[in-house]
Amino acid sequence: MPTDNKIHFLLIPHIGPGHTIPMIDMAKLLANQPNVTVTLATTPLNIARYGSAIIDPFRFLELPFPAVEAGLPEGCESTDKIPSIDLVPNFLTAIDMLQQKLEQRFHTIKPRVNCIISDKYMSWTGDFADKYKIPRIMFDGMSCFNELCYNNLYEHKVFEEMPESEPFVVPGLPDRIELTRKQLPPEFNPSSIDTSVFRQRARDAEVRAYGVVINSFEELEQECVKEYKKLRNGKVWCIGPLSLCNSDKSNKELIDDEKCLKWLDSREPDSVVYVSFGSLVRVNTPQLIELGLGLEASNRPFIWVIKSVHREKEVEEWLAESGFEERIKDRGLIIRGWAPQVPILSHPSVGAFLTHCGWNSTLESVCAGVPMITWPQFAEQFINEQLIVQVLGLGVGVGADSVVHVGEEDRFGVKVKRESIKNAVENVMDGGSQENERRMRSKEFGKIANNAIKEGGSSYLNLTLLIQDIMHHENAEASSKKVDI
Ligand code: UDP
Repeated sequence: MPTDNKIHFLLIPHIGPGHTIPMIDMAKLLANQPNVTVTLATTPLNIARYGSAIIDPFRFLELPFPAVEAGLPEGCESTDKIPSIDLVPNFLTAIDMLQQKLEQRFHTIKPRVNCIISDKYMSWTGDFADKYKIPRIMFDGMSCFNELCYNNLYEHKVFEEMPESEPFVVPGLPDRIELTRKQLPPEFNPSSIDTSVFRQRARDAEVRAYGVVINSFEELEQECVKEYKKLRNGKVWCIGPLSLCNSDKSNKELIDDEKCLKWLDSREPDSVVYVSFGSLVRVNTPQLIELGLGLEASNRPFIWVIKSVHREKEVEEWLAESGFEERIKDRGLIIRGWAPQVPILSHPSVGAFLTHCGWNSTLESVCAGVPMITWPQFAEQFINEQLIVQVLGLGVGVGADSVVHVGEEDRFGVKVKRESIKNAVENVMDGGSQENERRMRSKEFGKIANNAIKEGGSSYLNLTLLIQDIMHHENAEASSKKVDI
């Protein structure tokens, strides 16, 4: 039996905001359940970044990050802090070295760990869990829709013979969706940095996992949940939207809530377009300027989060010298760096989210009942766009037609013109009958999402089922040991 009848979960997130934030939320959610203990293992700077605001009853286990040992600059402990694309292989090496760090400290974790929940891209956790004979549940930060798409693309490889711009139907999905080879994630459409070994290891560890925990809710993608459960022997638990478990704020970095929320207070309901591309996308300068001009042409109030990273000087020069910031100052707010995204989206003045379609951003928009203007960039974002626009009818695309690989942004130039941006904004904000219907659907899904995590809701129930499953597994293991004796 588990010690004191308690189940102890060890959570191991991948170190990047889009993966760490939902895992921190998951830790809070689990730790607030009766008979559950939670430890979350991550690196010192990530504990400092996300942990300062947390008073919840879970513990951190610090894993020193071997940045310098792996040839990275000191303090480079998160995917959004990698200074140059050439250093990605070093970052992946450092991630693998965390296995040894955890092995050195594992004996200090008390009580005994009964279940590991680890990110798909911490693929070493597969071997680790096997070594210590602990069931491991994978977290991938994506929807069941997405998991099914990946699985079917791995199995059927229908895209292989296709010209790169010709649409094909993704096989075996409950919904008909079309993609082109140019829009596929790096597993099927590699960039110039070779990450194939890393991705294959992640896939192998995924297939071996005991189960999968999903940041989504069943009502959003009922048929896909059913299909994905069939594929994984029923061991799939949708326990999201995880961001809703937050009444506090998990990321204190550069948050300037006051100013931003006050600015929103002075605007009409549903009138503001919020524009952000998440934590990793690096839009090239000409495209960023085109986006600014598209927003200006749309004539709507907007909040625009600019992460210029390596091009800070260029972007600042344009903002100042072109007169852009001055021209839009009465209806546009520019946030440099990190924005309080969840509070912004939840504000009643926000009427649309121009998003790169990262899964967290997508789900946060759904929770807030805000329709989306979709501009996917890379990874699984084109698949998410299909779910938002084609399947759920919650958004309108700007017309992005291919992945912009990380680190190769400058090669792609201006892919989306200001007129397309303006048209998509107008389409979502214009008050016509289609727009009204989309807005109503968004608000309806928002209500369903909020109910899913409440007592009696689908995700609440799934969380209980997950804990019970691990308890049964523990008990079965204990009985089989007795028989052996
Ligand atoms: N985020 C934020 N402020 C920002 C940028 C991002 O709070 O300025 C959060 C956002 O709310 C989401 C996460 O960072 O929870 C980004 O995850 P997502 O999956 O959308 O995109 P990624 O960054 O992984 O591409």
